[in-house]
Amino acid sequence: MKSGKVNYHCVHSMDDAISVNKTHEGNVKYMAGGQSLMPMMSLRLIFSEEVIDVSKIEDLKKFFSMKGRFFIGAAVTHAMIEDGKVEDPTKGYLQYVAQGIAYRGIRNKGTIGGSIVNADPAADWPTALLALGASVVIKTHTEEIETPIGEFQCGLMQTSLKEIDLVKGVVVPELSKDAKWSYVKFCHKVGEFAHSIAAIVIDPELRIFNAVLGAAGDKPVLLPRLSKYLLSANLGNTNLDKELNNLLESDLLENTCHLSSSYEFNLHRSMIKRAVMEALKK
Ligand SMILES: Cc1cc2nc3c(=O)[nH]c(=O)nc-3n(C[C@H](O)[C@H](O)[C@H](O)COP(=O)(O)OP(=O)(O)OC[C@H]3O[C@@H](n4cnc5c(N)ncnc54)[C@H](O)[C@@H]3O)c2cc1C
Repeated sequence: MKSGKVNYHCVHSMDDAISVNKTHEGNVKYMAGGQSLMPMMSLRLIFSEEVIDVSKIEDLKKFFSMKGRFFIGAAVTHAMIEDGKVEDPTKGYLQYVAQGIAYRGIRNKGTIGGSIVNADPAADWPTALLALGASVVIKTHTEEIETPIGEFQCGLMQTSLKEIDLVKGVVVPELSKDAKWSYVKFCHKVGEFAHSIAAIVIDPELRIFNAVLGAAGDKPVLLPRLSKYLLSANLGNTNLDKELNNLLESDLLENTCHLSSSYEFNLHRSMIKRAVMEALKK
């Protein structure tokens, strides 16, 4: 299938992007790599007469350290992170996540900003960034605001972004030397969207103890009981498996509403337990 007729606008600054958007109010889409937007327009799941290409905006491709935190521009591609062209302040976590997204052709074009705006619950960045405690920098037509990623993604392929707003980038913590992480996902075939994702980030110095489950509902969820348990979890505990089973039973039932079968429940529980073991072994 092909998309309907669209007018293409290529812009070189965030202000231009917003002002072109304002001019055509109501029927406009920003495009980064087009990796999700174009298929959806071709399938007529999205109708838009104007497309604003933001991939040439230099400010959206920047990345830099800012006092213990690290900014990554929205138009930075998965491949730039995979190839180490962007410094990794997370002890290899971002690079590991990036290399596992889809396949290389998609990673060459797809961007971190496009992924979080698309807000697919089975996509990698929404889950990975929630586990890091990242935030999203949004440029509106009057100001720049920073929102925790957990508030940014508000539902199935839904974000708090207003039509005219542009995502400028994401901000992640620079993890300390004792930080541990793991990221595991289950796909039937390499390169396809995951059926389950479990991400763990533990950084005692920064007080980060986050366990997140993705691809299990409308949006990735922070598992509160397990996150708290990570404060004291250790591999020497002979009751570790039993304790994990008990707390995951409540965490999964209370925080995901789509676990329709025992297969799904067991799949997610296995993935999370594997992620906990991998993180604690580091
Ligand atoms: C076959 C296939 C397999 C895939 N598998 C995976 C996978 O396993 N894991 C995974 O995580 N992803 C996967 N993806 C998605 C891929 O990672 C895309 O990179 C991602 O969806 C975003 O694409 P994009 O950056 O090209 O954004 P676009 O497609 O250009 O845009 C996506 C959405 O974001 C909006 N947007 C883009 N940039 C901005 C901005 N700066 N500000 C405001 N709005 C913006 C657009 O308007 C659009 O609504 C897959 C895609 C395909 C086609």
